[in-house]
Amino acid sequence: MSTSTDAPVVASTAYEPVIGLEVHVQLLTASKIFCSCSTRFGAPPNTNVCPVCLGMPGALPVLNRQAVEFATLAAMALNCRINQTSIFARKNYFYPDLPKGYQISQYDKPLAEHGYIEVPKSKTDDQNQEPRTENRTGLRTKKIGITRVHLEEDAGKSLHEGFPDADEKTAIDLNRTGVPLIEIVSEPEIATPDEAYEYLTRLKEIILYTGVSDCNMEEGSLRCDANVSVRPRGQKELGTKAEIKNVNSFRFIREALVYEIARQVEVIEAGGKIVQETRLYNSSEGKTYSMRSKEQAHDYRYFPEPDLLPLVVDEKWKAEIMKTMPELPEARRARLVMDYGITEYDAQVLTASKSLADQFEAAAKAAKNPKRVANLVQGELMGRLKARGAEIEQSPISMKGVAASADLVESGAISGKMLKDLYDLCFERNKDFPEVYEEEGRPQQSSDTSALEKIIDEVVAANPKQLEQYRAGKKTMIGFFVGQVMKVSKGQANPQLVNELLIKKLE
Ligand SMILES: [Zn+2]
Repeated sequence: MSTSTDAPVVASTAYEPVIGLEVHVQLLTASKIFCSCSTRFGAPPNTNVCPVCLGMPGALPVLNRQAVEFATLAAMALNCRINQTSIFARKNYFYPDLPKGYQISQYDKPLAEHGYIEVPKSKTDDQNQEPRTENRTGLRTKKIGITRVHLEEDAGKSLHEGFPDADEKTAIDLNRTGVPLIEIVSEPEIATPDEAYEYLTRLKEIILYTGVSDCNMEEGSLRCDANVSVRPRGQKELGTKAEIKNVNSFRFIREALVYEIARQVEVIEAGGKIVQETRLYNSSEGKTYSMRSKEQAHDYRYFPEPDLLPLVVDEKWKAEIMKTMPELPEARRARLVMDYGITEYDAQVLTASKSLADQFEAAAKAAKNPKRVANLVQGELMGRLKARGAEIEQSPISMKGVAASADLVESGAISGKMLKDLYDLCFERNKDFPEVYEEEGRPQQSSDTSALEKIIDEVVAANPKQLEQYRAGKKTMIGFFVGQVMKVSKGQANPQLVNELLIKKLE
């Protein structure tokens, strides 16, 4: 679920922003895209290099089959059409981290086109007349188009710190040169910073489910640039755009967009003109700064890469790749809602990662009441993990443990209060539920009828007003009495038994 930023909204509603996103994702192949060098992150600088990725004269690139399959799988998951033939092209520019003087990319014939990502409909554009659809779980969504997905090689990295004379010199690490990338370009159809945030969240989730990348933003496996312009509301023609580069979290991208939209409106309203340029976001100041004027496509002098054949992904190969497609988050959510009777919100939380969803399903299948398993994960497990700052993977209570505890509550063997106490002990002792349950000597909740009846008498005597209401026909008051009895018994009573005894007493 999205949370809105506290940042000021665009002052003037006379303007509407238009946002497009370019996302680079490193593929998890063992070797680089055009040579057999390792892609391992964190190796000593300039150790994973060879004449091909260093761009030595005469060295010839050989395309990595796995990179093509990963890129195709990702593009299919993003609902793209795969082009049977795509062409590698040289994108020419000079930069210290690019020893060849050109990057092998794809230009007018990319691997895939015409995809989309569905994002939840944002509250802020209710007034817009854009077409909306409903997804399989009935959530109102908007489709954001994906123009293209293409394959390319990564460049090296400039190092500005971490070595003795770093204040005077910049060092170059070429280990990253030639690591396979896909670039995912959206249509300029994103209407708000919140929508951009949602798009990126969904994109990352889908890519993670396919397993073709770890999408680790700190290590640069997922990087995002945003194009943003504003125009008078209702105008067809696009305004001049600025590109915001090198923002390293989705939250910062949302903040950078909020700032940049307000800046552009201010410039225009003051009678100024927006220049096409690349801007950097300073997250500690919350502002964007001009870096350089933006290159136009023709500045790169793209031409077909003469050392590589056209890439052909025929129907047979496509079908083989399609066979490796896992169930994607959207479909999985819909199925969880259907199969386990849980809410859309529960399904969202439980499908946040593929591994969590897998664990949940295994546990829910084994439990008597899957809905209770979902409730316990959300109500009892997630909160405790959050308080500890831990991920579900570090939970002392496994999904099997959650299922076991759910069954005990279901059968009335333990109360909700006892379950909470046992969960606390699991976190204290860093042990799974069944182990702690045994250690605590399988605590029994009070099913001693005569003791309970005594408590009930006390509670009823102490609350004559509520008793009157109940007898006057307000049957829901039973809940009040159950709660009081549970309180007096310090949560040790069996609620089902309390309920039965109370009804007998009150009638
Ligand atoms: Zn190499």
